[in-house]
Amino acid sequence: MLPAVYSFTRDSVALKAPRFPILTLDERQLTPALGFIFDVRWLLPGESIVSILWKFARANGLAGHTLVQLMGADVDPYEGVEPMRDVIDVKRLRRMLCLPVKVLRASLLDAGQRGRHHPTFRYCRQCTARGHHSVTYQMFSENRCPAHDRMLETQCRHCGRETPYILNAILVGSPYRCAWCGTLYGTRFPPVLSTGPTMRKEDRIAIARHFHNRMAGSFCLGGDDRRV
Ligand SMILES: [Zn+2]
Ligand SMILES: [Zn+2]
Repeated sequence: MLPAVYSFTRDSVALKAPRFPILTLDERQLTPALGFIFDVRWLLPGESIVSILWKFARANGLAGHTLVQLMGADVDPYEGVEPMRDVIDVKRLRRMLCLPVKVLRASLLDAGQRGRHHPTFRYCRQCTARGHHSVTYQMFSENRCPAHDRMLETQCRHCGRETPYILNAILVGSPYRCAWCGTLYGTRFPPVLSTGPTMRKEDRIAIARHFHNRMAGSFCLGGDDRRV
């Protein structure tokens, strides 16, 4: 005789798979085999590593400190690590996120440009409300969002504090909101997964074009016009 769990009829309540993976293994060894989901189509060209990790964390129900630990075996999640290409182990990151190396390298700051980046998280209010933060927003040479023509901001509008642009549990663990007071940077919570549905097509094109015009040379990205 089958166990009771197998004997439900069509009218019984179906057993549902848990929404998120149950982490029974060492979280430093997370792999896609455990069922994590991520899709490169959720990203716009130039999406920052912070934006990528926010989407990954929300899609898979992971805490910020867990993701930061995956940046390196000896990374203290509360101290964190600089989001720079010469600091982050991109191959390790690729194994976890299953994203192309090119996308991950573009999401990180260029070590050769050290000193030309804002040390604090800098954002467009409208973009964060739609789930997007570009690596270009961290650069001193950029002042406005290419899609919404808004001045980029660093302070929380509620408490006035800024958050260091470091991959640590504080920043990665506070998707789209101030890490200090919890107020959203934008006017609403963005969709859990993709930026696409809430960003107008012309805005997506403006962001992609701006990224490629300004950054493609230094990122060696060539003429890749994927998914806008
Ligand atoms: Zn914007
Ligand atoms: Zn705040």
